[in-house]
Amino acid sequence: MQVDYLIVGQGIAGTTLSYTLLQQGKRVMVVDAPHPNTSSRVAGGICNPITGRKLVKTWMADALFPFLQKFYQDLEQTLQTRFFYDRQVYRIFKSIEQQNQLLGKSAEKGWEHFFNTEVDNQPYAAFIDNSLDGWETKQGAWLDTAALINAYGEYLKEINSYREALLAYDDIEVTPEGVRWKDVEAQKLVFCQGMEGKHNPYFQDLPFRLVKGELLHIKIAHPPLENIITHGIFMLPLPDTEGEYLVGATYDWQDLSNTTTDKARDQLQAKLDKWLKLPYEILGQRAGVRPATADRRPLIGTSPAHPQIGFFNGLGAKGVSLAPYYAHHFVAHLEQGTTLQAEVDIKRYN
Ligand SMILES: Cc1cc2nc3c(=O)[nH]c(=O)nc-3n(C[C@H](O)[C@H](O)[C@H](O)COP(=O)(O)OP(=O)(O)OC[C@H]3O[C@@H](n4cnc5c(N)ncnc54)[C@H](O)[C@@H]3O)c2cc1C
Repeated sequence: MQVDYLIVGQGIAGTTLSYTLLQQGKRVMVVDAPHPNTSSRVAGGICNPITGRKLVKTWMADALFPFLQKFYQDLEQTLQTRFFYDRQVYRIFKSIEQQNQLLGKSAEKGWEHFFNTEVDNQPYAAFIDNSLDGWETKQGAWLDTAALINAYGEYLKEINSYREALLAYDDIEVTPEGVRWKDVEAQKLVFCQGMEGKHNPYFQDLPFRLVKGELLHIKIAHPPLENIITHGIFMLPLPDTEGEYLVGATYDWQDLSNTTTDKARDQLQAKLDKWLKLPYEILGQRAGVRPATADRRPLIGTSPAHPQIGFFNGLGAKGVSLAPYYAHHFVAHLEQGTTLQAEVDIKRYN
């Protein structure tokens, strides 16, 4: 079988990269070892343009957010499946000073596309003390990552572009024309392996800083919210449920297993109990490991020794927002030879 690209991994990275290639008429084969606890399947799936305690604009937000919206909506059309939802993130003003400061900031150039202070605070009042009111993001979104990955995997199978297998490095043969793996001959191979990329022999010594995360799945007996609340941790309403939410997430740099822990559950509950005014029931818990990097930027590029072998990784805690734009950016580099942005190019670590 001859293809243009062999893609290893079908998380968010492999999904966005292979779809971008297919859209450009390339022949692809995606090989994936599906696992219920991959980062993409466990992810909260939130696209939040303003994050952190200090309220900073997500890096590259002006480019990422318009791009991701179009990308996921187009993919929904192709797959005839719903997985992308407009969802704003609501945060309360913590003090009158903060309220004044943020009201001023909302008019600043660059913030007006992402920051909305004219919100209806009433729906949130049953959940959190918002006596000082609050604000919402603009262009926030939620991606049902598991629904996307499942639907896209089925689509790949239909077009004979999917193999379920764990690719062993020893089975790769680098040829003058490209790469051979079993019966598949490809002009190029791109690894989209998430945390497994840390052990890839073709791309050694890249500064991964893997970080485990856990989420709780809870139920609240109250008419459900439409949007996400963030206050130290996020509480995200799951559509088409009667008051089910995901609550998260934790960050653990030591334990890099993907099993759930009592410690994380206690941590999340302690944070939630500080502000959630309503009682809740815990329905479940899940854990995964984010493929994060020391400088919090993606790891994209090709091997200096084998230019036909590429790497698309390091999406960290924001893969859902970063992947569509950078898949497109990487494909332009692979196909047209455009220069990779220095901040994401793996060459920065040569
Ligand atoms: C708890 C938690 C919450 C998160 N919340 C958010 C959020 O709200 N918003 C957001 O944007 N991001 C979030 N993230 C981060 C996001 O999940 C990641 O950035 C993203 O999923 C990384 O995708 P990936 O495709 O690089 O890796 P993965 O999802 O790990 O996919 C890699 C795939 O490659 C396969 N693979 C690896 N090696 C091989 C091989 N040799 N052969 C075959 N297959 C192979 C794996 O089995 C897997 O299927 C969260 C992560 C966690 C853990």
